[in-house]
Amino acid sequence: MKAAPFTLHRPKTLDEAAALLADVAGDGGLVLAGGQSLVPMMALRVAYPPHLVDINAIDSLSRIEVADGALSIGATVRHAAFHRPLPQAGVLGRLLSTVVRHIAHYPIRQRGTFCGSLAHADPASEWCLAAATLDATMMLKSTSGTRSVPAAEYLEGAMETARAPDEILIEARVPLLPDSARFGFYEFNRRAGDFALGIALATYDLADGVMRNVRIGLGGIEEKARRIAVAEAALDGQPPGEGAFAAAADAAMADVDAMEDASTSQEYRRDLAGVVLRRALKASMASAVAAQ
Ligand SMILES: Cc1cc2nc3c(=O)[nH]c(=O)nc-3n(C[C@H](O)[C@H](O)[C@H](O)COP(=O)(O)OP(=O)(O)OC[C@H]3O[C@@H](n4cnc5c(N)ncnc54)[C@H](O)[C@@H]3O)c2cc1C
Repeated sequence: MKAAPFTLHRPKTLDEAAALLADVAGDGGLVLAGGQSLVPMMALRVAYPPHLVDINAIDSLSRIEVADGALSIGATVRHAAFHRPLPQAGVLGRLLSTVVRHIAHYPIRQRGTFCGSLAHADPASEWCLAAATLDATMMLKSTSGTRSVPAAEYLEGAMETARAPDEILIEARVPLLPDSARFGFYEFNRRAGDFALGIALATYDLADGVMRNVRIGLGGIEEKARRIAVAEAALDGQPPGEGAFAAAADAAMADVDAMEDASTSQEYRRDLAGVVLRRALKASMASAVAAQ
């Protein structure tokens, strides 16, 4: 099938893009970033926006830099920018380069964008999981100005965010991690490159042999990625190891409101929450070894 007819706008500045989107959003006009989700949906006629505001010619949106203790990732920064750890981002750079390998396939990662994933908000998006777990901030711009929204408020549900139709997600700010931070990531899917059935991300500091500042996130299990406070509480103050990891996994399984679909039941996905979390925590032990 071919996409329905549409008008392509290619603004050169952010103000021009915001003004264009303000004009066309009411009619269903959309932002075009990497096109790796939107274009297939248009080709299948699941989406048929009459206008596309292509943001790829706006130079300022391709910036990726460390500022004010966070990694600022502009709207046209591709997934592939994270293939190698960004040295200026320290532990966070290593974490993002571990996660990115699980997103789609190599060619898709050359075009698809970090912010496009956050705008699309698939429940199994790896970047949505990273944003939720690390408490990233989204910068949203419209003709009325720019506002910042924390990830926990920004991600509202499956393909649903707090972004208004006339707002452009211009940047995501992901807080840096301390040099001492450990992290672990685990993803389960049926074939490499598929969207995940379940993903977990864990980070913590090790102080006097026990875990502190614990962050646990799950994706692909519920309708949106989120931090799992009960699992964090089960780990805080405990030494890393199988006992604590199993307690956190049990707490997470009891807490999640798992999705079901044609191929997986709620019980299956709830179980998977525990499995991916335990494996992510186990991987965190290896990340510490790798960092030494
Ligand atoms: C075969 C295949 C496998 C995939 N596997 C995975 C996977 O495992 N994990 C994963 O996370 N993703 C996966 N994807 C999706 C891919 O990562 C996309 O790149 C990503 O979801 C969207 O980013 P994009 O830049 O391509 O956005 P686009 O496709 O251009 O846009 C997607 C949506 O977000 C909106 N949008 C995009 N950017 C902005 C912005 N800055 N401001 C406002 N709105 C915006 C668009 O209007 C559109 O509605 C896969 C895609 C394919 C085709």
